[in-house]
This record gives sequence, C-alpha cells and structure tokens, in this order.
Amino acid sequence: MNKKFTPISELGEFGLIDSLLKPNKYTNSSTIMGTGDDAAVIKYLKNQKCLISTDMLAEGVHFDPTYTPLKHLGYKSITVNISDVCAMNGMATHALVSIGIPNKYSVEHIEELYSGIYLACKNYNIDLVGGDTTSSSSGLIISVTIIGEPVFSEVSYRSGANSKDIIFVSGDLGGAYLGLQILEREKQVFDKNSKAQPELEQYGYILERQLKPEARVDIIRELKRLQIQPSSMIDLSDGISSELRHICKLSNVGVKLFENKIPINKETERVALELNINPLVCALQGGEDYELLFTAPVKLYEKIKKIDSITAVGHVTSEPSKIELINSSNEAIDLTEEGWDSFVPR
Ligand code: ADP
Ligand code: MG
Repeated sequence: MNKKFTPISELGEFGLIDSLLKPNKYTNSSTIMGTGDDAAVIKYLKNQKCLISTDMLAEGVHFDPTYTPLKHLGYKSITVNISDVCAMNGMATHALVSIGIPNKYSVEHIEELYSGIYLACKNYNIDLVGGDTTSSSSGLIISVTIIGEPVFSEVSYRSGANSKDIIFVSGDLGGAYLGLQILEREKQVFDKNSKAQPELEQYGYILERQLKPEARVDIIRELKRLQIQPSSMIDLSDGISSELRHICKLSNVGVKLFENKIPINKETERVALELNINPLVCALQGGEDYELLFTAPVKLYEKIKKIDSITAVGHVTSEPSKIELINSSNEAIDLTEEGWDSFVPR
C-alpha cells in the first residue's frame, strides 16, 4: 500500500476547512447562508418552534478507532443527532459539525470522516451550514449540533404520557449492543494475534446496527401522514428500560411492559445466546439502537399498529415510576431499581 497521507499542517486550518467544505451542497430552501461567513443564516417561520440539539462523540469514550471506520463514524455522528430531533416529533434540516483533530490524523482521514457526514446529510436532506475546526491534544472529537422543525405546531415531550396510553417502539432492540460486543471480542483476538482475521461475516445486521445506525424519520413521516401526535416520545440511545425511567419520571406515571412483545431480531437473539447473554436483557438494557419509543391513547391503537415495524410493547399505568415487566408466565417482575439488579445476570 502506498496511499499518500497529507499531514494537516500542510494545508493548515483554513486549507483543511476549504477542502472539507468543497463537496458541500445545500438543498433546503430555508438555508440563506451556509458556511463561509461568521454565522449561518437560516429562515425560520415566525411563531414556529425550532428544535436544537447537540451531541459529542469522543475517541476512547464513544468510539474506538481501531474498529470504527471513519466514514461510518461521520455518518453516525449525524444520524444520532437527527434521532434526537425525531424524538420531539420533528424533522432535522440543518447541522453544524465541530471537530478536534489529534496529530495522528491526516487530511485524508478527516475527508473520509466527512464523506460519511455528507452521505448522512444527503440521505436525510440536511444542510451542513457551519462548524469549527481545531487541533486536539488527546483523541478525535466530533461535536454535531442539529436544527430542525416540529412536524405539528406542538412537539412531543417526555412529559406527556398519560395513564392507559399504549407504549410503542419502532424496529427491534438489543442489536447495537451485541454489535459492540462482537467488535470488542474481535479486537481482543487481534490484540493477541495480529495475523488473526476478524470473523465478522455472520454478524452483518448487528454490526450495522452498531456502526451505522439510522434515524427513524420514516416513522415520523408515517405519524404525520396519519395525523398522529404521540403523547410522549423519546429515542432509544440508552436502552428501553433507562429511557422509560425518563418518561415515567417526567410524566409522573408508571409502565407495564410485556416480555413476549419486545421486538428482537433473529440475529440479535442468536448472537446473544452465542455470547451467553439473555437476549431480553440486551433488548431492555442495550444502548444505541436509536429506535423511537412513544405513547399514544388507546383509541389510536388500531391506526398505529398498522405502521410498518411498529410494535405495541405495553401500556402506561398510574403508579408513579413503577416499571414492571410481565413475563411469559404472566408474573410481574419489578424493574424499578432494586428489582432490576436481581433480574439482570452480571
Ligand atoms: P471563524 O473564524 O468565524 O470561527 P472559521 O474559519 O472557523 O470561522 O470557519 C470558516 C467557515 O467554515 C465558517 O462558516 C464555519 O462555520 C465553517 N467551518 C469551520 N470548520 C468547519 C467544520 N469542521 N465543518 C463544517 N464547517 C466548518
Ligand atoms: Mg472557527
């Protein structure tokens, strides 16, 4: 391999920014001025709410560069932010990307990162309108700020769940966590024997769930088409049991989940068993699935359940912060703090 790597110092900060921004294109009519001036200019309708969120990914904390391709990392840094806007029942429109770059990264590396960023922007119709670039004395840092607009005049907060509402989730759960376990396992094999080839073929689905998560804009579009505003919504970045605690706390309610309703992909189940982990625990506690969880009144159940890849997993109760799992023998397992720990094998 004689691939040429250009040290960042050869281009300098401004040269690097110019090079990174060369492929940048705008597609939203609300973008008046993107990058290139002191601030971006975006047109927002008067009296319309604007959604803003930011998320930071730090090397060694949120990603391991030894098994995270830079293009995937760039893609994921955008989609996890879009997911936050979706979780308010909104659609993202604009992004700002700030990066801290350690010496060991070349211009080509950062361009690879940006190829993923641009791909996500294209797939989700997002305009990249600004950012900042600096060197970093530790690892690579990527901070993305996302801007979007609510689908309806009202947004869906975590605080809106009502007793008896049905709880829905999109997609399936636990895959991203297992993808990470496989990547960690292969890394350890490689650390011991650098000639070892990673065995990843049978893990396509869960690896994609971990490395290249998508934001569920399709669900937001469907809810809009059906004119449904969820009473509460959250995205599953930390695992459903943890996210439900937020909903319960802020809505002052409890929840009942049904074990046999929790959606688990076949590959997720197979790999969990292979690794001696209970698939249900992966689904309830595993993070980074970036699916949507929302609540809606019972009367909307028939309409919502017809949406592709949506599953009703339980319902809201009036007992504040009580999280219960009903297992296949119809027994209630208390997942509220203490109960939870005894349930999870460690
Ligand atoms: P300033 O001196 O105002 O901070 P910069 O020289 O840092 O301006 O940035 C020049 C332009 O390039 C600005 O519009 C800024 O938003 C954009 N920009 C800088 N770094 C990035 C980046 N990493 N990704 C996207 N846009 C960037
Ligand atoms: Mg700057």
